[in-house]
Amino acid sequence: MGGILFAFAGVGYCLNVEDQLRFFDDELFSQSKAFAAKTQYSLYQSQWQNQRSQTRLENGGSLNGGLIYARWYNANKQIVQFIGSSGGKQLTTKPGFKTVQAPISSDIPTTTTWVRQLTLPVLQDKVLVGYFQTAVPMNSLRSSLNQARLFFALGVPVTFGVIGITGWFLGGLAMRPTLRAYQQLQRFTADASHELRTPVATVLSNAQVALMPPEDPSEQRFRLQKIAETAKSMSTLINNLLFLSRYDASLAETILKPVDLNELLRSLAQEFITQCSAQNLYFSTQLSEQPVMLQADANLLKQAVINLLSNALKYTPTGGKVQLRLFTQSHRAVIQIIDNGIGIPPTDLPHIFDRFYRVDTVRSRQTGGFGLGLAIAQQIVQAYGGQITVKSILGQGSTFQISLPLKL
Ligand code: ADP
Repeated sequence: MGGILFAFAGVGYCLNVEDQLRFFDDELFSQSKAFAAKTQYSLYQSQWQNQRSQTRLENGGSLNGGLIYARWYNANKQIVQFIGSSGGKQLTTKPGFKTVQAPISSDIPTTTTWVRQLTLPVLQDKVLVGYFQTAVPMNSLRSSLNQARLFFALGVPVTFGVIGITGWFLGGLAMRPTLRAYQQLQRFTADASHELRTPVATVLSNAQVALMPPEDPSEQRFRLQKIAETAKSMSTLINNLLFLSRYDASLAETILKPVDLNELLRSLAQEFITQCSAQNLYFSTQLSEQPVMLQADANLLKQAVINLLSNALKYTPTGGKVQLRLFTQSHRAVIQIIDNGIGIPPTDLPHIFDRFYRVDTVRSRQTGGFGLGLAIAQQIVQAYGGQITVKSILGQGSTFQISLPLKL
């Protein structure tokens, strides 16, 4: 950006110089022509041919920004008349514009200044009769170029600074989600490794004991059982991790089909009634009378509700109640899973959907949880443009709510 800015400023300055010089030259040209006519060139022309000697012309006249000198030469390029300094007897420059250094006045020949000089051939009836040379100081042009230089010298660094600061700010803004995603990924990897380390250590220690000469065959069997249980739990964890990574970005690409949410929850409730009665929990449903249709992947939606129902069963003590509700509300399907279990402390509620977050590690470990169930449910619900929320009072119970847009 800086390079482009400097290149543009350089090109802009060059074009500006060219433009101003062209304008200056045009003015010098037209004024020189008028001046030559005013000093009655033709009158002197006869004198040039007759007088071989140089004479100093007293007629002042004025050109743009003041005249430094004006010189008349005959066709043989010998000076005939001049105002200001004579510049020698012979014309040495070719016709056209030239920037040269010349004395400010003939009285002080040592003090010079930069002048723009114009040499014009003078024709009469298409015959070259002489040359007219004039020069004006470039002060006005130089001061306006100085202004342009100052503008660029100040403007470019300031603009560069503004662009730099804006770029830094916008870059920071644009990078924020990437940075957050990177930090999440790092935390996720660290958590996953940590979660896998414990069961691997359990498997290893139990295998080492089981490999020793058996003193008690039941001890060996116990160790092998422990290994099998741990491996099963590791498999669940790996499946969960795979699920989270597989469906992280591509959930929308899965084939969507019309799903009757009412029917889906009814069949799910059948499965949970048995589990609830085994745990001495009272399970009730309050579903919609009408089919509640939406475009979804039935298995994924089922997974989200299963995770919430499993939690309700896990965290509700014997004799408690679990309820599954479905209703529609302003073009949305609302699923509620209500329990009167142990509840969640208010300080933990904001983090409850974070991956690997568990309210009470010891208690969760007992129930076999890794802190991924809610994260998975949230990922599924959000992929369908829905929301998952929780209300909970410690010791009184929790209500998890899924709200999905009803678009077919
Ligand atoms: P886990 O597999 O450990 O249950 P989740 O992600 O499903 O992981 O839940 C995260 C934490 O939220 C759990 O450790 C538990 O403490 C708490 N939690 C989830 N659901 C409930 C509930 N219905 N009642 C009380 N606590 C809950």
